[in-house]
Amino acid sequence: MSTKPKNRDRRGRRRGGSRRSEQTKRPIRPTPPCIACGEDINDITSALADPRDGGPVHFECAIKAAEAELKPVEGETVIYLGKGGFAAVESKSYQQRKLKIIRRMDWEKLDEVSSWRKDLRTELR
Ligand SMILES: [Zn+2]
Repeated sequence: MSTKPKNRDRRGRRRGGSRRSEQTKRPIRPTPPCIACGEDINDITSALADPRDGGPVHFECAIKAAEAELKPVEGETVIYLGKGGFAAVESKSYQQRKLKIIRRMDWEKLDEVSSWRKDLRTELR
């Protein structure tokens, strides 16, 4: 991870999925079911580990769970801070690309690396 001053919110949005030439170079990755919604995770690299049992969850499902935990009220938005942390921020400031964190939570237990993550790491080496 680089330490750029601007901590931009990445919503894990990726366009398309039909870039064949790029995909064929990649090894076939497992598509385990998300433990939150049960649907397959097609892009395991964007998945997060659930803090309860370390199973993979969709990024979107993690955001939803973070929203349930942080309970954003009107004028607040829940974003992913990176490194497994979520925060409820002030929407108005956020739209102006400023971060005003109201509440935050740590999602992943960073000291515990899930087995599916380990596999991914050795693969990327
Ligand atoms: Zn899911």
